[in-house]
Formats: sequence, C-alpha cells, structure tokens
Amino acid sequence: TERSMALAEQAKRVAAEFEFGPEAVNKAVKEFIREMHEGLQKYGTELSQIPTYVTAVPNGTEKGLYMAVDLGGTNFRVCSIQLHGNTTFSLTQSKVKIPNELMVAKTAKELFAFLAKQIENFLKTHHGEHYGATLKRRQTGGNIKEDEIFNLGFTFSFPVQQIGINKGLLMRWTKGFDIADAVGKDVCALLQAEIDALHLPVRVAALVNDTVGTLMARSYTSPGKTGTLLGAIFGTGTNGAYVEKLDKVKKLLQNQDAGEYDKSTGDMIVNTEWGSFDNSLRTLPNTPYDIELDAKSVNPGIQMFEKRVSGMFLGELLRLALVGLLKDPSFPLFRDENSAQNDVHSTTQIYESSPIWEQWGIDTSFLSICAGDNSPGHRMLRQTLDKDYGISAVSAEDAEAVREIAGAIGRRAARLSAVPIAAIVLETDRLKGPTGTATTEKKEGIEPARGSADLAEEDIIDIGVDGSLVEFYPNFEDHIRQALREIEGIGEEGERKIRIGIAKDGSGVGAALIALVAGRVV
Ligand code: ADP
Repeated sequence: TERSMALAEQAKRVAAEFEFGPEAVNKAVKEFIREMHEGLQKYGTELSQIPTYVTAVPNGTEKGLYMAVDLGGTNFRVCSIQLHGNTTFSLTQSKVKIPNELMVAKTAKELFAFLAKQIENFLKTHHGEHYGATLKRRQTGGNIKEDEIFNLGFTFSFPVQQIGINKGLLMRWTKGFDIADAVGKDVCALLQAEIDALHLPVRVAALVNDTVGTLMARSYTSPGKTGTLLGAIFGTGTNGAYVEKLDKVKKLLQNQDAGEYDKSTGDMIVNTEWGSFDNSLRTLPNTPYDIELDAKSVNPGIQMFEKRVSGMFLGELLRLALVGLLKDPSFPLFRDENSAQNDVHSTTQIYESSPIWEQWGIDTSFLSICAGDNSPGHRMLRQTLDKDYGISAVSAEDAEAVREIAGAIGRRAARLSAVPIAAIVLETDRLKGPTGTATTEKKEGIEPARGSADLAEEDIIDIGVDGSLVEFYPNFEDHIRQALREIEGIGEEGERKIRIGIAKDGSGVGAALIALVAGRVV
C-alpha cells in the first residue's frame, strides 16, 4: 500500500542518518591514535590515558588464594579466589547492599568500617579456620606470618587519582555517595586502617579499575599464552585498558610525584577512559538525536563517545528518533487501520501513558530484541512494544520500521566500538612481526573462525570484553569485525588475527590477579 511504502521509505531515511561508513571509521581511528599519543605525553587531555601501575598481564599459570572486594554503587561484593594455575579458578562470593545512611555518612570511617566488617564476616564464614588461627596469634601478641596474609584487590568504581598500585586519592563521589571527609584521601589506606582495627589477615594490595580487571581476567583464562592486549567494557558505560610500552608513557616517566612501580617488564597497563574520546566531535557522527540526547544529559559535551556507544544511551537514541517521527503528523508510524483509531486521534493521545514519551523511557535491551527478531511479522518485537511500552496493536510494517531504525543505532554503536580496538591494535604495532602460518585464503567451504583457529598462537591478538551490550546485542561482534576489515592497516588479514572473547568477573578474578602481580612488587 501507499502507506507502507511511505513508512518504509521514512524509516530508511532515519536509519541512514545513523550510517557510519568506512571513510568515517578510518578518520575516527586516526583521531583516536592521535589522542592516544597526546594522552601519553601529558595530563588533562581528551583521552585520559591513566597509568594504572599494573605492569604485566597474567599467562594462566598464576596460583594462590586471593581476595577481592568491589565497591561499585549499590552493592559491596567480597570474594576469595583460588587460582589453580591452569587458566581455571574457583570463586566464593558474598554481596551486601550498602545502607543508604552510610552512602552519605559524616565520616569516611563509618563507611569503611562497615566494609571491613563485611570482609570479617566473609572470612569467618568461608575461611573460618584460617581466620581463627591468625586472630588468636594476633591477640596473644604474636604476628601474622607473611604467607598467612590475604592479598586483596580493591575495585573502586569512583574517580580516583592513582599514585601507586595500592594508592589512590578520591577525586569526587558519584552515584549518590557523598562523604565530604573522604575526598582527597587514599581509599586503600582508609580501608586498610579499618581492616587492621579488626586484626584481619588482609592486605589491600591493589586498587583496581574494572577495565584492568577485565584485561587481567581474560589474560588468565584465555586459551592462548600470548597475553591479552586489551580489556574493554561495553555495558552501562564503555571504556578500555591496554598494555602499552612503558617508554611511551612519557607523562609517568617525567612525573616527579609518581609512585613506585616495577620497571622490569617494560610495560604499563594504561586505562584510556575512552568514553570521552573525541569530545570535541572532530570525527564522531552527530545526528539531531545525538545533539538532543547530549543537551538533555547531566554532563553536556562530556563522554561523547560513550553517548553513542554504551547501554545507558542507545535506548534513548532510539526513543528520540521515534518520538521525532511520531510528532510528525505526516509520518505513518503506529497509525494504520489495525492500530485502533489512529486516524482520528493523534498518536500522542493514544499512547499517552507509554514510557516512550519520557527521557530514558526505552531500555537498550529493546534494541537487542529488535535485532534478534527476524521472524516474519516480528511477533516478539510487537509483544514487547505492547507489554513493556504500552504501544499495542502495532502492525508488522510498523514493527519493521522500528526494527530498521533500532538496527541502525546498534550497528553504528558496534562500528564505533571498532575504532578504539583498531587504534590500539595499530598503535601497539601488534600486526607487525612474524606472520607465521597465517594465510589470507579461506579454506573451501569453511568460514574461518573468529580469531582464526588456523593461525599460529603467537599471531593472535587477544581482546577481552565484558558488558551486557557486547554479550547480548545480536551480532555486535560481527558488526565490529565488518568495520575492522574496512580499516586501513587492519583489513581482512588483520581482522582474522583479532580474537575477541568474553571475560567475566573482572572485579573478582581480575582484581585478584592484580593483587597477585602487585604482591610481587610490594
Ligand atoms: P554494568 O556495565 O553496569 O556493570 P551491564 O554490563 O549489565 O552492567 O550493562 C548494563 C547496561 O546494559 C544497561 O544500560 C542496560 O540498558 C544494557 N542492557 C541490559 N540488557 C541488555 C541487552 N539484552 N542488550 C543490550 N543492552 C542491554
């Protein structure tokens, strides 16, 4: 019908606004590399390129019993991790909600004493014998032996200025926390003081950023022994940490105030904070929906890459695109003869109570449902619109239009995600070196596996990823790979060398591994 043709055409037009083609991808990669270099030279740049004081990644043979805690937002997680030394581990964990009054306590001591208490409870429950024995000795004036001490990795997801592997000054609280007295203090020391007050056999050995945890977790568990290059998160936010040559981290080498770190590996893991890549929009795409999303956000002009890529924002981009169309009376979405009396009422009236009219009203998981529903008629998509978004009696054509726009937003996010991956692979020169048994020709009838199995292990560039978006958005990795093949210097041959694997438990096993490597230096 005329209506369905008009609808399809308009949906295509909006989808096309989210195109991020090969030329644009290549320009962005060049800009990312430029910003990487700039961030390594000096402080206060667009890409923060924060030295993490972690100087090596694990290879899967690490052994021992470690602890990790994670203060992220709502919950505090405590776990112990037994590394078996054969790329496997066992993890025991407990989780407790942070009482609201402690999030805004008068003194830091109140919060950190509570955290230490949780560590004590955990030890009593899961390592009772060990805890009892060390406590007794301590109380009778003895000392805890070095090999009885648990090294602990502390994942602390607030902005800190790291000045050592287990030293970091809190810059400011976020996510509803507000304890003025803690700002400017070393959060590791605050925790250690309360642990010591309880005589626990625990040393806060490392302050951990979640991307570094992801990198470490992947490097320990990944099938190869080459070491992982990059750990990346595509969840609520997006960020990545990678292995850089220490002599390129000029700002650290020249910093008089830098703390101690192990220089023997010649490497330093750098936390890029790539959510703020290209805040000045030299190369990022910028649709009217991006502009509106940013203008109405709590931090306009900041985290511009993240606002086009991560789970927190993609649903909102789709919402803004749909609302823009629904407000246009000439646009036929949700207005056909099946959709009730849409010809006589305005859509706004009919779906008045739908969350689609409110900021953040569409969750990014809806984009996954759209992309995953290839069924004729898109029943799943229509059911979700009905059940979760109060938009009922949607026609198959409407569903197709929504799917087209949602797909374009998801695809753009994945193609943007290829930018930092490619830039880091290129900047660290990982594609140079022996090509080994790598071949560019495909075996007849066999599609080469992701990070091809026929490559020599030392040619593979391993990347660990985590987050709901990369885990659950259908074909997110395929879209990344398509873009990687289009990038100068990577191409088909380079793309095949890149192995992308999910790395779970960055704040558990990853933090434990950082505590382990930290223990080697301390
Ligand atoms: P976090 O990054 O906070 O540790 P997650 O990795 O689970 O947690 O990411 C949560 C984000 O992922 C939210 O923004 C949410 O909207 C989005 N999300 C949740 N489920 C899905 C899904 N199935 N597909 C795509 N995005 C999802």
